[in-house]
Amino acid sequence: SGMRVSFDIGSRGPFRGRKLLRAVNGISFGVEAGKTLGVVGESGSGKSSAALAALRLNPLEAGTVHLGDTDITSLAPRQLTAARPRMQIVFQDPYASLDPSMRVGQLLAEPLVVHGSVASAAERERRVTQALESVGLRAAHAARYPHEFSGGQRQRIAIARAMITRPEFVVLDEPVSALDVSTQSQIVNLLKQIQRESGTTFLFVSHDLAIVRIISHRTAVMYLGEIVEEGPSAELYDRPAHPYTAALISAGLSADPDSASTRERIILRGDIPNHIDPPPGCRFHTRCPAAMDVCREKAPEAVPTESGGTVRCHLHTEGPRLDGRTVLPVL
Ligand code: SF4
Ligand code: MG
Repeated sequence: SGMRVSFDIGSRGPFRGRKLLRAVNGISFGVEAGKTLGVVGESGSGKSSAALAALRLNPLEAGTVHLGDTDITSLAPRQLTAARPRMQIVFQDPYASLDPSMRVGQLLAEPLVVHGSVASAAERERRVTQALESVGLRAAHAARYPHEFSGGQRQRIAIARAMITRPEFVVLDEPVSALDVSTQSQIVNLLKQIQRESGTTFLFVSHDLAIVRIISHRTAVMYLGEIVEEGPSAELYDRPAHPYTAALISAGLSADPDSASTRERIILRGDIPNHIDPPPGCRFHTRCPAAMDVCREKAPEAVPTESGGTVRCHLHTEGPRLDGRTVLPVL
């Protein structure tokens, strides 16, 4: 279908300049229906804020959020509540996101009760069983409590809970970051299977480019509240257009400064600047190995890339060329 989920989280409006709200600076993404957009960035890059704003769980400074034909930006509180079943979220920490005092069956049925979408208890029970089976668990698990499950199983429960209202759009905010590597890949495979079967659109937020690469059709790379590059995932990884993306890839794909990858610190010298008061010009210039004079003064505009994405970097308009192609710094 032609449906898209699109966000345009603007930096204009009455709150412009209010420092609190600068984490997300006029970003805009579109996700094709039934596809996954990965959003990658370091902590403090604004990726979670943007994702929460997209669901109107965070205040939206300005701009618009569309879910298909619905402009959810303009919905009154009651209409927004009514639209909630269409858009769900899965958080990073399955230990914190599931109420430990509720049985799994109650946890899963709760969204159906709250939204009044399924009136009969028998039908709710059927939906709970279906939801458990769709994430590789069994009907009998409904009687148990979250603490009786492993971290990976709890995340399966959280996914089942998000999917039970049959949402069109789900934000996955670092959904596998708290899990070990083999559990991570099981959950990623599960999410891909769920998407194939349900056609749900995903926004997958992560600091881990390696995981985003596996799950996302397109990838947006964020740095200090801005999308610095966006494009089809395969092309973005094979031929990054932004020095920050290139640095992440050569650093072993993790944007987490605390990760085992210390190579990133060598490539990107210096700390991540304060996102409340970002550097002038290109926000990445204090760490960029290719920074030119213009980078310190002028903020780069987003320009199209050959692969059908966009990039925000002066190299693409003023930088060195080889065979008509932009030369990225060798890292
Ligand atoms: Fe580096 Fe300049 Fe491009 Fe920014 S605009 S990423 S500082 S080359
Ligand atoms: Mg976060």
